[in-house]
Amino acid sequence: MESAPSRTDFLVIGAGVAGLRAAVELAGAGTVLVLAKREVTESNTQWAQGGIAAALSDEDEISLHLQDTLQAGDSLCNPEAAKVLVEDAPRRIDELIQWGTEFDRRGTKLTFGREGAHSRNRILHAHGDSTGREILRALYAKSKTLKNISVREFEFSTDLIVEDGRVCGIHLINERGEKQQTSASAVLLATGGMGQLYRNTTNPAVATGDGVAMAYRAGAEISDMEFIQFHPTALYLKNAPRFLLSEALRGEGAYLRNIELNRFMPKYHPMGELAPRDVVARAILHELEVSQVKDPFVYLDLTHLDPEQVKKRFPRIYATCMEFNIDITADMIPIRPAAHYAMGGVRTDLVGRCTLPGLYAAGEAAATGVHGANRLASNSLLEGLVFGARAGKTMLDELRHPPARAAKSHRAVSNGPVDTATEEVIREVQDLMWRDVGIVRTGTGLKAAIEQLHRLAPRVAHPQTRRAHEAHNLHALGLLVARSALAREESRGAHYRTDFPVHDDAKFLKHSMAKGDAIRFA
Ligand SMILES: Cc1cc2nc3c(=O)[nH]c(=O)nc-3n(C[C@H](O)[C@H](O)[C@H](O)COP(=O)(O)OP(=O)(O)OC[C@H]3O[C@@H](n4cnc5c(N)ncnc54)[C@H](O)[C@@H]3O)c2cc1C
Repeated sequence: MESAPSRTDFLVIGAGVAGLRAAVELAGAGTVLVLAKREVTESNTQWAQGGIAAALSDEDEISLHLQDTLQAGDSLCNPEAAKVLVEDAPRRIDELIQWGTEFDRRGTKLTFGREGAHSRNRILHAHGDSTGREILRALYAKSKTLKNISVREFEFSTDLIVEDGRVCGIHLINERGEKQQTSASAVLLATGGMGQLYRNTTNPAVATGDGVAMAYRAGAEISDMEFIQFHPTALYLKNAPRFLLSEALRGEGAYLRNIELNRFMPKYHPMGELAPRDVVARAILHELEVSQVKDPFVYLDLTHLDPEQVKKRFPRIYATCMEFNIDITADMIPIRPAAHYAMGGVRTDLVGRCTLPGLYAAGEAAATGVHGANRLASNSLLEGLVFGARAGKTMLDELRHPPARAAKSHRAVSNGPVDTATEEVIREVQDLMWRDVGIVRTGTGLKAAIEQLHRLAPRVAHPQTRRAHEAHNLHALGLLVARSALAREESRGAHYRTDFPVHDDAKFLKHSMAKGDAIRFA
């Protein structure tokens, strides 16, 4: 087994939609090393079900996609970034189709689904509800045709190397479990989300926000961390993963019913089940609180829809629920909300540049401001695609900084065995984040969470294994989310505080920026 090269022109950390799309852009100019910390198929991209948004249908317009994106973002989107997203969408999707992505069609015409807070049917999907998997398959296949790209699995990046104020490489634990360094002209963080910060999450195990934590430690600016989107509908069964039940189910007409089987969304929002995600998540939380049932849940109900159409449109969801003896065409599905998407991350400009020279970010790890305080459904695969390509294009310029010779000796570290103390501290972080930094927040709860996180700090310091690095990262991110949430004394988008339940535009129509110990709004 060969270890990762110690030098490459471009280093891309992450092999999801953002990383692979950037790699394709870079491949014409130099060598591209793409790292994944597990198999390439372990990523949020692989799990994305519902689809990817683009104003491509005859009855749609780019301006309407923009309007819906801005509205979901609750006045906090960066309008320029949102404009780039919706305007670049059609050609990036065309490109994906040329590279072999098979979106669902009726005859030869693409079919467009509808999701919450979209004013038009504009969601392209693939194999019903396996859109991310299909996009990843096609992008990976495309990258394989480009000889400059080398994709390496099980290479775990632990920290950035900064010299003279410039990012010039990374420390990593390679596939053989050895510590090494790799240098590059430019480094792209495309490490995905941080759902693993929470006890209940739709995100896979790899989503520990490593890239954001690395960038923070290296001194890059991190932005909008208080905005975590909770998906309203994740399967809620004992001993089952919190499998996502896509928004597209409600788009197709599914109802939410409380434990007494009453539809409740119409009393919370005029759009009913298609209200923005934060509204639906809080409505569910309220129904759970008033239900007076121990370990409560609500139901997602598709039983009134055409069973054959449901099976055809949602084959993966149908099959997964059947594994747990739930036939979604005949049974109601027990659900609860779960942490789903991080709007915040490493702050970038419109072309993927971070505040540290030599460092770029794209996809869920980045904060372009495109989602504002709340992401519009199906805009995140698109963000990875559009801003992955843009970051790649910008990184090409960096070839004027040739990678340093970094052939340092490789030093063995342990990759395991499973360390109970690390698992325990991760669990404690996840529990306190769920309880005090979750869907509904208070100043008192946030302060308690911050204190508790400070108490846990010695238990995550000096990580030696991969898992200990993840614990270290999750702990750092937990503090960033809690501190940003405490600083934002208002409610907006996905951030809801009972002690400050309304917008405060005068003070907070701004993005939170964290760097070192300081949090400012700008
Ligand atoms: C269940 C689910 C359903 C979703 N459905 C949709 C949907 O329908 N539409 C939509 O638009 N969005 C959806 N999303 C969100 C969307 O999937 C993600 O936001 C998007 O795929 C993120 O892509 P990415 O390239 O930024 O990161 P990811 O796809 O998560 O890729 C991250 C990569 O980084 C690597 N990595 C991480 N840390 C390290 C490290 N330390 N060292 C080396 N490599 C590392 C990982 O191995 C992985 O390869 C969904 C998300 C989930 C979880």
